[in-house]
Amino acid sequence: RIVVVGSINMDLVTTVGRRPEPGETVSGDGFALVPGGKGSNQAIAARRAGGEVEFVGAVGDDVFATALRDVLGRAGVGVSRLRTVPGPSGIATIVVDGGGENTIIVVAGSNGRMTELTAADLDTIAAADVLMCQLEIPVPTVLAAARHARANGATVLLNPSPVQELPAELWAEVGVAVVNEGEAAHLAAALAAVPHVITTLGAAGASYRGPDGHVVSHPGVPVRVVDTTGAGDTFTGTLAAHWHEGPETALAWACTAGALATTKLGASASIPDFDEIRAALAG
Ligand code: ADP
Repeated sequence: RIVVVGSINMDLVTTVGRRPEPGETVSGDGFALVPGGKGSNQAIAARRAGGEVEFVGAVGDDVFATALRDVLGRAGVGVSRLRTVPGPSGIATIVVDGGGENTIIVVAGSNGRMTELTAADLDTIAAADVLMCQLEIPVPTVLAAARHARANGATVLLNPSPVQELPAELWAEVGVAVVNEGEAAHLAAALAAVPHVITTLGAAGASYRGPDGHVVSHPGVPVRVVDTTGAGDTFTGTLAAHWHEGPETALAWACTAGALATTKLGASASIPDFDEIRAALAG
């Protein structure tokens, strides 16, 4: 059983030939609402990969809240600990221009209001085998969740993204860290003390380093890449769902799922399910 304590947000994606100068108005070409947030994406990936998943997080009291709640619910992720708080949901306003360049404004909204865990949240966390966290909610909440999970025998899996310096007390709770190459470089000193570290290597796959110095590499899975958005979240969620099978097997599932996620457009829509991953693994 996997419990995710993390973010959920709505991406507002506008496409435009040329972005406006300050004070200018231009006509856009298109618009889409895309549910996202690392917490939500990883929860959905873990569920699709075969895990039983519960989400602890918050949406706002705006029009996006229902849609966000439904995305998790439809995927089969438990939402009994998804709370509603006053104010906006987490929002990312994304402008994609004709040159394919993105500008993004993230408003933490309800994710920033995840400042407390309720008694019911803590009960849910205590029942987890794996607690999976990222850094799109306040770090003190991540620390509280990690402490409670580990005190109750769960494995704490941290994807330290967006990358930032973290208190040593948090690293002390982390059993498994999943990082990309940038995060690995930035956090090298802290990661040295984490028992299990998985580094994703884009098209080159991923590597694992265990507590005894044991190293496993998994090559990249060759695919026709359409959009790499969400590949890292798919990798992490899938790894969590298969972690109990050991690092070799978990790495194979995660690399395959991450690669499959790059073959379709979008973040959550591109996450493969159990049968797709298994078929690709079988070759
Ligand atoms: P992030 O997107 O978080 O920086 P990576 O680029 O390392 O992370 O990608 C995460 C995982 O997604 C990789 O470990 C791999 O499994 C898969 N992946 C990403 N890009 C590709 C690609 N071009 N071809 C195959 N797999 C990929």
